[in-house]
Amino acid sequence: MKTYYLHLRAFPCDLCQGPVVTGSTAVRERDIEKETEITEVGAICLSCGHRQSEATAPGRTRDFPPVLWEPPKASTPPVMGHTASAYREMLNREELH
Ligand SMILES: [Zn+2]
Repeated sequence: MKTYYLHLRAFPCDLCQGPVVTGSTAVRERDIEKETEITEVGAICLSCGHRQSEATAPGRTRDFPPVLWEPPKASTPPVMGHTASAYREMLNREELH
């Protein structure tokens, strides 16, 4: 039986030292086996919104204990319209800078 885990990490933001939170999901086939199918998800600073994927200050990453998570529903079709409009919104915002 497969178990699904969610891992969370936090490290200081390069711009504002606020908490950048990043996560990954992983699958473990059995308790003794190491995790497979690790999927990294996007990192974002909770203070300023800076998207920083890796910690640049060594030794300052906090790892939170993995938690069991329900497996994602693969059969659910992605909501394309919503994703696309959110993406366009993001692009428009970047043009303003
Ligand atoms: Zn920040």
